[in-house]
Amino acid sequence: MSQILWLFLLLWIFCLGAVVGSFLNVVIHRLPQRKSIVYPPSHCPFCESAIRWYDNIPILSWFMLRGRCRDCRQPISMRYPVVEALSAILLTAVFWASSLPGRDLPHLSWPPTWSLAEALGDTTATKPAADSPPRLLIIMRTFQLSVLLWTLLAATVIAMESQRIPFTLFLPAVVLGLLLWLVLPWLPEFGVFRSPDPIEAIFLAGASLVASAFVVFLAAWSWGPESRRGFTPAMYCTGLLLGAPRTLVVGAGAIAVFVLTQTLVPWTPTLGRVPLIAWLLVGVVAVALFW
Ligand SMILES: [Zn+2]
Repeated sequence: MSQILWLFLLLWIFCLGAVVGSFLNVVIHRLPQRKSIVYPPSHCPFCESAIRWYDNIPILSWFMLRGRCRDCRQPISMRYPVVEALSAILLTAVFWASSLPGRDLPHLSWPPTWSLAEALGDTTATKPAADSPPRLLIIMRTFQLSVLLWTLLAATVIAMESQRIPFTLFLPAVVLGLLLWLVLPWLPEFGVFRSPDPIEAIFLAGASLVASAFVVFLAAWSWGPESRRGFTPAMYCTGLLLGAPRTLVVGAGAIAVFVLTQTLVPWTPTLGRVPLIAWLLVGVVAVALFW
């Protein structure tokens, strides 16, 4: 693909990510209050006036309005452009990383072929030098990882605003995860597939759930519900969309960092307020881009 076309594609994907971020803002604002996410259309929470289409452009509108409602001049939260920008950057980065040579679908690296070298990230040790992944694989991988990242991003923001995370937030990721586990092994396009056997695929899905459940049990056993808000369903989504080995690593890593920040509270109270699910998000971002 020519360089100009590639840049144009990345820009288009960035815009798509920003639009999804705009939708995530609606979800973050309305879902904890048990309001519909589709109706009514966006309106100012202070003066109730409908937001015009040109004031609803992701990222840009907040800056053009200087962070204030056009009608009542009440401040609009910084959270809006930040979530939109993060969503756009994550989607673009995940697409970029997924198009690099040697990238598989995440949940496929599991025994019997899963080796220590692979676990440590040395994919060349077990795989022959690969060409760029097939287009369908790039799209599947980007979609799979983005849905997980968007879910965790929305959950993290809701947790940071000290709200209860409704379980419905995790439903799309759970449904997608189950569908991928059950449907993918039969698709003939995936030559890289290591478990074409449906029985094995179901076993792997079960093993992933058990592994996730174990980490969740550890978390539930160790901490009160306040600080680990949303961690349980988030781990299930991660298990389904990222696979057991990576989920165990990011889950254990998130718990370790969380414990560390809790012990450092007397010195850095701000860091201590970061919820457990935020550290999980950081871990999943790292895995999505580099592993
Ligand atoms: Zn207003």
